[in-house]
Amino acid sequence: MPLNCLFELTPTCNLRCQFCYVALDPYKGPYLSTDQIKSILDKLEGAGVLWLTLTGGEIFSRRDFPEIYLYARGKGFLVTLFSNATMMNERLAELFAEHPPFLVEVSIYGPNAEIYERTTQIPGSFARFERGITLLQKCGAPLVLKTPMSVFTQDHLAELAAFAKARGLRYKVDTAMDARHDGGSEPVVYRIAPRRVKELHAEMDQLNGRVEVTSEGASAMTEAPSHLAGPAPVGDCSTTAADAGPEDLYRCGAGRTGLFIDALGNASHCVIDREPSFPLLNMEWDEVWERMGAWVTQPLPKDAPCSGCTLRKKCASCPARSRLATGSPYLKDPYYCDVTHVVNGLEPVVHPDYRTMAPRTLGACAS
Ligand code: SF4
Ligand code: SF4
Repeated sequence: MPLNCLFELTPTCNLRCQFCYVALDPYKGPYLSTDQIKSILDKLEGAGVLWLTLTGGEIFSRRDFPEIYLYARGKGFLVTLFSNATMMNERLAELFAEHPPFLVEVSIYGPNAEIYERTTQIPGSFARFERGITLLQKCGAPLVLKTPMSVFTQDHLAELAAFAKARGLRYKVDTAMDARHDGGSEPVVYRIAPRRVKELHAEMDQLNGRVEVTSEGASAMTEAPSHLAGPAPVGDCSTTAADAGPEDLYRCGAGRTGLFIDALGNASHCVIDREPSFPLLNMEWDEVWERMGAWVTQPLPKDAPCSGCTLRKKCASCPARSRLATGSPYLKDPYYCDVTHVVNGLEPVVHPDYRTMAPRTLGACAS
C-alpha cells in the first residue's frame, strides 16, 4: 500500500540551477491542469496515501497553487512542500498561516549571494530566497533548509549551517548528485569526489554536536518527510523497505511504500527512475500499483555485478542510479560504488573520472 507520494506539479522553474535533474527537453507540456491534478489527488486518497509532497520545478510558479494546496489539505493529506522560496509572497504567507503545511523544505545553494547565485545563475535570487524564508518563518510554517552538495558548496558547509542556526532553522545536507532523469549528464559535472563525500560526513558529525544538522547519504526520492518532531514515518532512499529481501533488485521503499508522479500525470516508483511509468489518468489505480510492484520486487540477477556484494546493504548505488549511469538497472553506478567503498574505509574500485558518465559495461568489484 502506498503511504507517500512525491507529486511534481510542474517541471518549470524561475531559477537555472546548473545541476538540476529536471529534463525539460523531452518533456514538454501540456502539463496537468488544475482539474487533472485534483483527479489524481482523488486517486491517491483512494489508494491510501497519507504523506503527500508537492515538488517542481518551482511549485509556487503555478498560479493555481493555492487551489491545489487547499484541495490536497482538504483530502486529509499531510502536505510537505519542496520549494526554493524565491516566489514566496504575502498571499501565500496568509494561506499557510491559516492552513499550515506539514513541512516546507527549502533548498539553500549558498550562504551568501555570490555562492548561491553561482548555482542558480539568476542575479538577485539570494535576496528573494532570504525574503521567502523570512515570510515562511513569520507565518509559522515548519521549515527546514537543505543543500544538495556540489562543487559550489562543498567548502562552505560550516557557513551554510551557521546561516540556518542564526535563523533557528534545522539544516540538512545531501551529498548525492544524479544525472538528469532523461539520462542527461550535465549535473554529474558538479558532483563531489568520493573522498570529499567522506570528509563532509565527518564535518557533519562535528557540526551535529554544535548545531542541529542532519545528513542524508542519499537523496530521498520518494520519501515521506522527516518532520521536526522525529524520524520519517516510512523509509526513504537510505532505508531498506521492511519487506525487501536481500537479493531483491530494489531494496528501498520505491514502488513499495512510495511513488512519484510527474507533471504529465505519469506514475513511477522513483523520481529519477521513470521506467516503467503509467499514465495515472487513463489507468485504474490497482493495475498501476500491481505493475509497479512487479517491477520493484524482481530479483537482482545472479550474474549482476552487485550480486553477493557485502556492501550492498549500505550501498549508495541503487537500480535507479545504475540505470542513469549505465543504461541498465542491473549494472552498478561506478560513482556511488566508489562513494560506498570510500565512506566505508576502503579503496575506490571503479575509479573512472567521477564527473563523466560511466562506461556501459562494468565488471564486478572485489567486495
Ligand atoms: S530507487 Fe534509488 S533513488 Fe529511487 S528511491 Fe530507491 S534508493 Fe532512492
Ligand atoms: S559497493 Fe559497488 S558492487 Fe557493492 S553493491 Fe554497491 S555498487 Fe554494487
